[in-house]
Amino acid sequence: MKYIEPAPIKDKENPFESMMSRFKIAAQHLGLNEEIYNVLKSPDKQVIINIPITMDDGSIRVFEAYRVIHNNVLGPSKGGVRFDPHVNLDEVKALAAWMTWKCAVVDIPFGGAKGGICCNPREMSSGEIERLTRAYTTSLYDVFGPDTDIPAPDMGTGQREMAWMMDQYSRNSGMTVNGVVTGKPGVLGGSAGRVAATGRGVMVSTLSALEKLKINPYNSTVAVQGFGNVGSHAAQLLVDRGTKVVAISDITGAYYREEGIDITKAIEYRNENRGTLENFDGADKMDDDILTMDVDVLVPAALEDVISMRNADKIKAKLIVEGANGPTSAKADDIIAEKGIVVVPDILANAGGVTVSYFEWVQNRLGYKWTKDRVNRRSDRIMRTSFENVYKTSLKYDVNLRIAAYIVAIDRVGKAYSYRGGF
Ligand code: GLU
Repeated sequence: MKYIEPAPIKDKENPFESMMSRFKIAAQHLGLNEEIYNVLKSPDKQVIINIPITMDDGSIRVFEAYRVIHNNVLGPSKGGVRFDPHVNLDEVKALAAWMTWKCAVVDIPFGGAKGGICCNPREMSSGEIERLTRAYTTSLYDVFGPDTDIPAPDMGTGQREMAWMMDQYSRNSGMTVNGVVTGKPGVLGGSAGRVAATGRGVMVSTLSALEKLKINPYNSTVAVQGFGNVGSHAAQLLVDRGTKVVAISDITGAYYREEGIDITKAIEYRNENRGTLENFDGADKMDDDILTMDVDVLVPAALEDVISMRNADKIKAKLIVEGANGPTSAKADDIIAEKGIVVVPDILANAGGVTVSYFEWVQNRLGYKWTKDRVNRRSDRIMRTSFENVYKTSLKYDVNLRIAAYIVAIDRVGKAYSYRGGF
């Protein structure tokens, strides 16, 4: 098979190259047809726009923004929109491809996409963020649509931004189109359980993996890096299931308590403290790196590339459950594997969010609302079944869970291509 080589991985690992190197290994195991490999290695569409916004002080600033559609062979493309000062095209390309694989791993009928605006929402007023969100939605009006491309929250965005996107798209359409965006507030057609969904999926994945490792979850120790939507819900739900979350962290630092941290208290504190854990008194601030702590389970739920060549050999956890997208670089994979650490990969571990986004879209199309119980039961079932399927695939091909998850995903997308055909 003559694969066209992706660019080599350099020192600072590029997320798109990290994604490609796993994709390539999985494709080789699967014996993926070369044509399909070449189709899937590049995104279908990449849109780069520059959005001028009048700031509150009257000045005009131009923001660079992106929407990348990686693939839509399984259905309309799906993926969040990130507001972050470090957003760049390579990152968005990787994140879009991860969405394709993620949707395919959990077998939901969506392709993959991602969007981003290079901005710092922490330094912007609500009015400035609203204008930027509405302008972005209008610029991408031809790309978005309930049957074409469906955005959702990601880093730096949440229900508020989704409501503006839905409203702006609806205004441009001359009618209410709530299925164009997921992660909306409940009154606008948002699904019960969506906010906690990614963290809940992380919890289900953690319990499934602990069972395979024969580690009793009761009193097992957990460290969670990142205390945003994913990290905080995962921590809370893991504590509810009897584990002991001994460390949490955010941009202000890491916090440790040997007896386990009261996560409800930490969430309340964060909510009343402008979104951070600064000066949180329910645990001790620690100098050590949360990622290299001696715990049973490590949940990186913040950024990409936090476990890399720089620190992979120092990781002590027995299990890593990737709440974030791309927290482990491709080069670190081998070191982690050599140390016998099991990794539940991002495209499986954090797929609970897009799974409930799918339920939200289904409910919007039906004009009906499901109860939280129904949503949770169905998403838990999907997460458990997907974990088992990936686990079995890892045994069948004698590969780690990450490569197995890529194999499951690429197999589904590849088959869909073969059936659909092309020009
Ligand atoms: N941004 C989330 C993710 O990376 C959710 C995507 C969605 O719900 O479409 O999975």
